[in-house]
Amino acid sequence: MKTVAIIGAGWYGFHLAVTLSEKGFRVVLCEKNDKIFNELSGNFGVRLHLGLHYPRSKKTREGCIAGYDEFLHTYPELVNHHEHSIYGIGVLDADQQPSKISAEDFNRLKDEHDSFKVIDPKEWGYQNLQTAIDTTEASLVVGRKLRTKIEQYLAESRVELKLSTEVVSVFQDQNKKMVVSTRNGQKESKESFDYVINATSYQCFLSKNKELPFDMEVGYQVCIALFYEDTQEKRMPKPIPFIVMDGWFPCLMLYNDGEEKENSTYLLYHGKYSILDTCATAGEAKELLQKRLQDKQMESHIERLARTHFASFYPEFSSERFKYLGWKGNVLAKAKTNKEFRGAFVLEDADTKIIHIFPGKVNNIFDVGREVLDLIEADLHPEEIITENGYRCTRKGALFQARCEISEKPDELLRNTSSLQTAEAVKRSLDGPLSFFGNAKSPRRIAEEKIVSVSKSPMRIIEDQVHLRSATPIYSVS
Ligand SMILES: Cc1cc2nc3c(=O)[nH]c(=O)nc-3n(C[C@H](O)[C@H](O)[C@H](O)COP(=O)(O)OP(=O)(O)OC[C@H]3O[C@@H](n4cnc5c(N)ncnc54)[C@H](O)[C@@H]3O)c2cc1C
Repeated sequence: MKTVAIIGAGWYGFHLAVTLSEKGFRVVLCEKNDKIFNELSGNFGVRLHLGLHYPRSKKTREGCIAGYDEFLHTYPELVNHHEHSIYGIGVLDADQQPSKISAEDFNRLKDEHDSFKVIDPKEWGYQNLQTAIDTTEASLVVGRKLRTKIEQYLAESRVELKLSTEVVSVFQDQNKKMVVSTRNGQKESKESFDYVINATSYQCFLSKNKELPFDMEVGYQVCIALFYEDTQEKRMPKPIPFIVMDGWFPCLMLYNDGEEKENSTYLLYHGKYSILDTCATAGEAKELLQKRLQDKQMESHIERLARTHFASFYPEFSSERFKYLGWKGNVLAKAKTNKEFRGAFVLEDADTKIIHIFPGKVNNIFDVGREVLDLIEADLHPEEIITENGYRCTRKGALFQARCEISEKPDELLRNTSSLQTAEAVKRSLDGPLSFFGNAKSPRRIAEEKIVSVSKSPMRIIEDQVHLRSATPIYSVS
């Protein structure tokens, strides 16, 4: 029987473990924490995307739709169904810039899925939107509820789960076996496997100083999410999830974690304020994350900015009704691309023989499962394998299929999430003197601002107030 070690028990590690075990492999799943799904998965992956959040990335949308029905079919207990989820195109983002996609181009996406329907957002009580699409897109169960279900799936499988087991090194021995060294408290162990899959969210066991294929560049982002409780007995009257796009806009999702106050917890992300730092390595980003999460002044500032901006689209999101509960953070690896490609892909390092998973959306777990199998069975169909820069991937896989999108780099003069350094901008504005809170203005941006004449909308006034108050250390929303 062939053996596989999988490092990391998040969405990708879990799904691969079950898939490979069903295919007859002996699978050992190692997780460094004492719980599964306790990092990105379980805390952040809230939406089962149908692709509308990526209106400029066709490849990301295709990947989302491809995995959507498969997810509903395979893990039916892990989704929350919604009659409505609204994706709107905002008038102006947090930098006073228009959406990166026009209302006309966005409305054209309505043909990509049966559930998409163009609506008039005003009729639904939303403000400052140019257009919106309503969909029945589901969301994912999260937190304790998700973990309990996944533990059941694992218990029913033949996967050997090893918790509190950190993989410390992986190397190939003379017999071409992969030797995995682990640490569990004081106990150190070694075991040999035929294959090793790195499902640590592309954060460990990466070859340094080796160019990635297809001109791919990766950044590590310190991301946060803000949590709120709806204090009214009668819950949200309008459809939530409610997502505003495309640029530095907010989105609000229901956070169904099975805790006591089910259906009253919400999670707010913001295209700009949720991305605190962008770093070259995961280690650097993790260090910053610890520092940021302890910074109460920054938390209060960011919470206020994100909430105020969100309330300009959805006025009911007031501080009286929605009690702020706190923030959570993590580090996310992102490919630096012009169209914000967010699919997942698989690549095998031809030197170390480790199969790396680059995470995307949760919907991508199925494609990733098939790509991993194709790589493992490469001898059966060598013509399907591409080798570039010392990495192997499959011809059908997302990396090769989306190589044009992936290699198209963000225009340095235009704003792109891959270069956001929000925390530094906040710090500058807190330390005063009064400064612009945002990315440094580029020559092109100044030129664009001259072209785009922006009216003094309610949103603009709110943002102006934020800038003016940034001379004082902490703010209260008036
Ligand atoms: C703010 C935000 C919002 C998001 N929203 C969505 C969304 O709405 N929908 C969506 O589909 N996706 C979303 N994502 C992306 C999604 O959450 C991730 O892509 C996905 O959860 C990644 O899963 P993973 O298994 O790769 O990583 P993880 O869940 O982080 O799992 C990796 C595991 O590896 C373990 N590990 C690390 N090193 C070792 C080691 N040496 N030994 C043993 N174990 C180790 C970790 O402890 C961890 O449990 C979002 C991400 C962020 C940051």
